[in-house]
Amino acid sequence: MLFDNLKIIEPIQRALTAEGYTKATPIQTQAIPKLLEGMDLLGCAQTGTGKTAAFAIPILQRLNSEPKNMKGNREIKALIVAPTRELAIQIGESFKCYGKHLGLRTLVIFGGVSQHPQTNSLSRGIDILVATPGRLLDLINQKYIHLDKVKYFVLDEADLMLDMGMLQDVKRILKHVPTVRQTMFFSATMPAEIAKLSNSILKNPVKVEI
Ligand code: AMP
Repeated sequence: MLFDNLKIIEPIQRALTAEGYTKATPIQTQAIPKLLEGMDLLGCAQTGTGKTAAFAIPILQRLNSEPKNMKGNREIKALIVAPTRELAIQIGESFKCYGKHLGLRTLVIFGGVSQHPQTNSLSRGIDILVATPGRLLDLINQKYIHLDKVKYFVLDEADLMLDMGMLQDVKRILKHVPTVRQTMFFSATMPAEIAKLSNSILKNPVKVEI
């Protein structure tokens, strides 16, 4: 389907065209209208299906329609948690690319590197945070990160997080995110523990399987 028919706003469409995207992939066609309506989503999808754009585009569009923050008054409104540094970087690049005409700020944080550049960027204020669980929890505990204004929460590759022993951290992070929010949950497979977690954090989700 053409992005035009999905009611994507012009500045995002322009960015997609510049990237050479002409048509939406099946997961995008199914997910974008529901996410624009504000529904929760359970996505069973592998990498390579276009799932990042399926959640990034609606989040950007919804953030863009909210009143703009004054300078110095930026708070984290969208949080994306991903299991690996590589994936977090890739998701951050997608948000920056599709949102390049919107004036929103995206930051990617992960462990294994000094936290100072990350805390400096946080202190300047950001709209969208992409993070791996360990470093995120660490910076929450040090009070560099406050999640009380988060409205959009994405958990990507949840089954990989289970395999990597990250579920406890994810559950601790969730305690800091408001319960009134839009949640998007992605996993390539649905082992029992992941199904249980998805049930506990999603409200009447649309299910998309690719
Ligand atoms: P993902 O499944 O999110 O990892 O995306 C896989 C790749 O497909 C990425 O390199 C995207 O840039 C690309 N992609 C996503 N959506 C589209 C689209 N509608 N048209 C062309 N390429 C796309």
